[in-house]
Amino acid sequence: MGYPAIVVNREKLMNNTKVLAEKCGRLGIDVVPVTKVYCGIPEIAEASVSAGVRMLADSRIENILKLEKLNVEKMLLRIPMLSQADKVVEHVDISLNSEYETIRTISEKALQKGKIHKIVLMIDLGDLREGVWYEDAVEFAGRIIELPGVKLVGIGTNLTCYGAVIPSRENLGLLTALADEIEKKYNLKLNIISGGNSSSLHLVEKGQVPKGINQLRLGEAIVLGNETAYGERIDGTYGDVFTYMAEIIELKEKPSLPIGEIGVDAFGEKPVFTDRGIRKRAILASGRQDLKVDGIQPRDKGAIVIGASSDHLIVDVTDCVKEYKVGDIMEFDLGYGALLAAFTSEYVEKIIK
Ligand SMILES: *Cc1c(COP(=O)(O)O)cnc(C)c1O
Repeated sequence: MGYPAIVVNREKLMNNTKVLAEKCGRLGIDVVPVTKVYCGIPEIAEASVSAGVRMLADSRIENILKLEKLNVEKMLLRIPMLSQADKVVEHVDISLNSEYETIRTISEKALQKGKIHKIVLMIDLGDLREGVWYEDAVEFAGRIIELPGVKLVGIGTNLTCYGAVIPSRENLGLLTALADEIEKKYNLKLNIISGGNSSSLHLVEKGQVPKGINQLRLGEAIVLGNETAYGERIDGTYGDVFTYMAEIIELKEKPSLPIGEIGVDAFGEKPVFTDRGIRKRAILASGRQDLKVDGIQPRDKGAIVIGASSDHLIVDVTDCVKEYKVGDIMEFDLGYGALLAAFTSEYVEKIIK
């Protein structure tokens, strides 16, 4: 085994998926696990599938391609690139959309291939990331329905991503009201009303999800066991599905203040230092190329991450009970951003258990 490495416990991931699928299932809500944080690695996604879900979702077609062998529907989360319309029709079962020109092109490509592509119309309820503005949604839905190569199977929204707007009875109530209006006006049934991501789970816990919402797309809640509106842990889930491991390459006692005039560091930032006397510092062979350093937490409670450059991670181990030596491996919990970076870095070995 080489380092740095990220170790995945599939048993725990399956448990998290199951716990969330049950909590949501009681309210008639389907859970769609989101695989993008681990780059759609199929051996990992399989653990979520084995918890009994019917669909997986990812932002990138490249990841969806990796999931091809898993026998569930695949949803494309990011609004498709016009240049990928052809691939969307070929490899994706359902895509989230908000641009007429793109949907029209998807419709054309689908007809050429003798397919009907399923569309979920994304509606912006005020978070200001993707979606047609809620006041325009009903009319927009009417234009999608006229396209022969696509089928409007649902509507959805995404909150707490850009504008940090928290899902509520009011804003998700607006989504279900729009669904009713579209169904009545065009005399059709929308099978999917997709009420957001891990930030909608607080409403599940409180039993406040508006009736009609029947799907949530969950990434962070499944991989880290967090609801993301208020940052609470979810009961019954594991927070340690992933373990990051890095190796100590230098271990020395040094002052906590650098010597000399302080300019800017390798990333153009001016560092600030506190004088805590002589400290024992471990340098680990890992850095910003593999991690988001402010999103990592050593498992050893005595250790403190004090900084990183591209390839070096500096950890203060003065207060650790364990006597570390060069060559020892330290373990870390990762936040969402660090997890994303670790999976994306080709220098990090992925170990799936
Ligand atoms: C990433 C993403 C999700 C999952 O978000 P989490 O906060 O990780 O649950 C859901 N929907 C869309 C459109 C996304 O891009």
